[in-house]
Amino acid sequence: MSLLVVGSVAYDSVQTPHDHRKDALGGSATFFSIAAALFHKPSLVAVVGEDFAERDVHALEHAGVDLSGLERAEGRTFRWGGRYSVDMNHRDTLFTELNVFESFKPQLNDAHRDASLVFLANIQPGLQLSVLEQVGCPRFVAADTMNLWIAGARDELLEVLSRVDAIFLNDSEALELTGCRTMVAAAGELRAMGPPLVIIKRGEHGALVFNEDDIFYVPAYPLEAVIDPTGAGDTFAGGFMGYLAETRSFTPENIRRAAVVGSLMASFCVEGFSIEGLRRLTLDDVRRRYSAFLALTRIDALAL
Ligand code: AMP
Repeated sequence: MSLLVVGSVAYDSVQTPHDHRKDALGGSATFFSIAAALFHKPSLVAVVGEDFAERDVHALEHAGVDLSGLERAEGRTFRWGGRYSVDMNHRDTLFTELNVFESFKPQLNDAHRDASLVFLANIQPGLQLSVLEQVGCPRFVAADTMNLWIAGARDELLEVLSRVDAIFLNDSEALELTGCRTMVAAAGELRAMGPPLVIIKRGEHGALVFNEDDIFYVPAYPLEAVIDPTGAGDTFAGGFMGYLAETRSFTPENIRRAAVVGSLMASFCVEGFSIEGLRRLTLDDVRRRYSAFLALTRIDALAL
């Protein structure tokens, strides 16, 4: 099944309590597509500026991402800066420079229009809608978003929600968007807005998957050290969608497996800055962590 992602390709400047990086490869579509490519080749539609380095083009190509939809425009690549709290659970955005995204109009070629799975990664909801106008009849469309758009582009975001099969968002975003006080209530509201599948990400506390009548909790894989959480959410979605594209099954059991794969991919992502934790990863690494995850979470019936 062909997989398409539209989102940001960025240069990120990140400060953690222990270290920092300036202008490191990032962006929602970057993390998504590198994670997905381990399972199924994705096509990426995005824009970069004249300053986008060849070595970063090669990093994406080397990961197995189809770059026929990567546009190079006049101006500077999108830039984002963030700083993490001491416990790494909180992040402040220091700056967002849209740059070439200000005039970006995603243009899908014929192959992209035929995609079976589409991921609308975090970008302006207006751009997500313009992609939805162009795709043919995909089997499964998922979207991600962030607080910036919940506050600043709510109507367009609600329109996106009404037209997708799945939404990925953080716990604080789910509460902000719905006005609810609990995740279960927020998921119910979100599903009433459109998507039958709602995935609420909770950082080191894992993720909740609300799928029809099935509610599934997937813990985050416990790590000794978290280096940089940037991109964990997009990487979760990349593992989830890449696994679905490869296995071609949308049963509740397979959605659960996809969520575990997403969580494990996110655990690899946070073990390095930028894409360092993902770039040398193999399927065997994922298989090993999946087995460890099973051992960690397996439990027998109550013996009473
Ligand atoms: P995550 O940590 O999964 O929330 O994703 C962080 C990534 O999102 C970074 O690599 C940023 O470049 C990207 N990003 C941050 N803000 C925006 C935005 N307003 N539009 C598109 N991408 C963004």
